[in-house]
Amino acid sequence: MLSDIKVVAFDADDTLWVNEPFFRSAEAKFFQILEAYIDKRDFTEELYANEVKNLGLFGYGAKGFMLSMIETALELTEYSIKGEDIQKIINMGKEILAYPINIYDGVEEVLKALENNYRVICITKGDLLDQESKVARSGLGDYFERVHVVNEKNPETYKRIIASYEIEPSEFLMVGNSLKSDILPVVELGAHAVHIPCDVQWVHETVAKDQYCDKSFINATSIREVLGHLSKK
Ligand SMILES: [Mg+2]
Repeated sequence: MLSDIKVVAFDADDTLWVNEPFFRSAEAKFFQILEAYIDKRDFTEELYANEVKNLGLFGYGAKGFMLSMIETALELTEYSIKGEDIQKIINMGKEILAYPINIYDGVEEVLKALENNYRVICITKGDLLDQESKVARSGLGDYFERVHVVNEKNPETYKRIIASYEIEPSEFLMVGNSLKSDILPVVELGAHAVHIPCDVQWVHETVAKDQYCDKSFINATSIREVLGHLSKK
């Protein structure tokens, strides 16, 4: 039982609502576009290499993903890709930026149960406009005292956020789907974390088992389990 928690923070994408599957389905459509120019094969590696190369310039999110798809298409087709196919890629990026927010089962129930007893916040990484738009579209915004949109979720980011609430790391709980972004940097600071894995995960967020097998955090299969780990107030 976690008895000292004062601030409960939630990741957004793939923790509160479905996100990654929209990227994977756009990727599949993108590969189909490429197949009109080059023999069908797996283009995942080339696209991923460009995404990672561009992260420092574009940051996380749909806009960077769209530009990396365009760059990959230009390279793989040796600049022969038609303007209309580039437009299709841009449209796919726009679709991701406007995707319907499908909130996971139990999310609202948990936020409602916590809001009067804890300081509840959201910490999400990505593009400011896109992340704020998703929070607004979700209708969950009022449950959060603050929504922090950050460029990277590393120990420094969490340290800064925890300090801004004038609490100790031991009084902070993070709930999220990504071991790399939501769990390990938080545990490193001596704070608490609940990991709720999701079915579809971007390869960039995966970590080798030896990096987390000796770390102390809570595993959950549903967001509802968070309530069972927090003491009643
Ligand atoms: Mg996430």
